[in-house]
Amino acid sequence: MRCYCCSSKSFDECCEPFLKGDKHPSSAEQLMRSRFSAYATAHYQYILETYPKEKQQGLSVEDLAQSAQGATWFALKVHPTLAASSVDNSVDSLVDNSVSSTEDSSIDCSVHADAKVEAQTNAEAISKPSLKPITKPNNAIVEFTAYYFENKSMYQLHETSNFSVEDGKWRYHDGVLHDDCGKIKYGRNLPCVCGSNKKFKQCCATKSR
Ligand SMILES: [Zn+2]
Ligand SMILES: [Zn+2]
Repeated sequence: MRCYCCSSKSFDECCEPFLKGDKHPSSAEQLMRSRFSAYATAHYQYILETYPKEKQQGLSVEDLAQSAQGATWFALKVHPTLAASSVDNSVDSLVDNSVSSTEDSSIDCSVHADAKVEAQTNAEAISKPSLKPITKPNNAIVEFTAYYFENKSMYQLHETSNFSVEDGKWRYHDGVLHDDCGKIKYGRNLPCVCGSNKKFKQCCATKSR
């Protein structure tokens, strides 16, 4: 099964190990993707644990579940951002970083992404060794649009989020919502927002309830 976060990988090779606690995301984008998958699969404990410790104090799994009630999260697009590529530039996150800086947001889920990333990563590793930071940056920004259904209507959440590392793990701090958040109309014959290359009506529209 393709991962909920709309990567080209399968769930068990993408976000599932993070949700199970077997692995920790090595970049802000990975954390953001795994948090989306957590919302899509109602793993609210994971949502709670990926906030900074200070924020966790005022939250509970019940609160998170309550506030997410009624929404069916079905697709995610990660946007390329200048801020993300200049800040999130560590060796570990280079792969994800390349995706956001070389791919159109619209083809984030493209099957070609992996090959491109590999080429880009190798090229960068060879030609720009001096640009690699000595210490791993502890802050990163990721811009994304997440799509969900509520009461049979389609909504988008377009956010630029701040992430930082605490105790060696990436955490979601907060985000700024963009003006285009809210209910949207999406043509049933258009390519699905999840990047499946199917028509919307034959793909994620069937998850509406
Ligand atoms: Zn995933
Ligand atoms: Zn779809």
